[in-house]
Amino acid sequence: MQCTGNTPPISFAMLRKMILLTGGSVVLSLMITATIILLLGETGALPLGLAIAGFCPVLVTPPATYVFCRQTMELQAAYKALGEAHRNLSDIHARLKTAHEDLEHRASHDAMTGLANRDRFLSHLSELKRQSHSGYLLMIDADHFKQINDLHGHDAGDRALLAVGQAIAGSIRPTDLGARIGGEEFAIILRGSSEEGAAMIAERVRANVENISLSTADGTPLHVTVSIGGAAFGPQSRSKEVMRQADSQLYEAKRSGRNRVVMATGKVTRAA
Ligand code: GH3
Ligand code: MG
Ligand code: MG
Repeated sequence: MQCTGNTPPISFAMLRKMILLTGGSVVLSLMITATIILLLGETGALPLGLAIAGFCPVLVTPPATYVFCRQTMELQAAYKALGEAHRNLSDIHARLKTAHEDLEHRASHDAMTGLANRDRFLSHLSELKRQSHSGYLLMIDADHFKQINDLHGHDAGDRALLAVGQAIAGSIRPTDLGARIGGEEFAIILRGSSEEGAAMIAERVRANVENISLSTADGTPLHVTVSIGGAAFGPQSRSKEVMRQADSQLYEAKRSGRNRVVMATGKVTRAA
């Protein structure tokens, strides 16, 4: 039973309820009145008493039942509308939450590779230092990438960058953070890594990138390599200084032939 704009003022169910309640009230009223009059021994008053006892419920019960039914219907309709509004609100809340998570992800990740972006990379490094962690930073730069674009086109270059991103993501541990911090520049933050551990991961990245199997639309093989420089960080390090140190090792890796890893202590690994 609902009370909407289309609800008739009186329904069949309501009418039935009115008739039943009125009938019941009349019978009860007649019985009570007759009992009282008989107990008092005033049998002369019986006809008038019964007439009044029968008439009063007929006068009062139908409108009272009607008002009661309408209010019940309105309450039920309001309750239903409230339930719908609650469901709509829950739905809006769920969609807002998803949109917020999506926005947060877009604001902190690189759209092409899905790795962390530069902002997230910088904030993660600061956060680790704030939490007194030490570790290792690797700066990675694709070799002769301008040539790849010039020879094979920008789209092929994009596919190569995506593959480098995947090689980085596939070479690190869940506690590490891989990031794309510029066009063809990447970085990895290795939490709690020693130089030895970091050199192992850097070499894995270098080798995995070298082994990427890509070809252009016309089937020409597309080779991509990276140079990597590393530097240690601790709670007291300044991010800019650590990045500068890793960059200067990266520069050294470029200068000494590319497709190689140079760590802070000067340790070099390269392609065989
Ligand atoms: P090096 O080995 O010294 O790093 O040489 P390089 O050619 O990689 O370095 P350079 O800085 O001269 O050129 C970087 C190139 O990377 C130029 C730029 O067009 C390309 N690049 C940067 N971002 C993107 C990108 O998102 N997509 C593509 N396809 N190319 C990009
Ligand atoms: Mg570069
Ligand atoms: Mg480069």
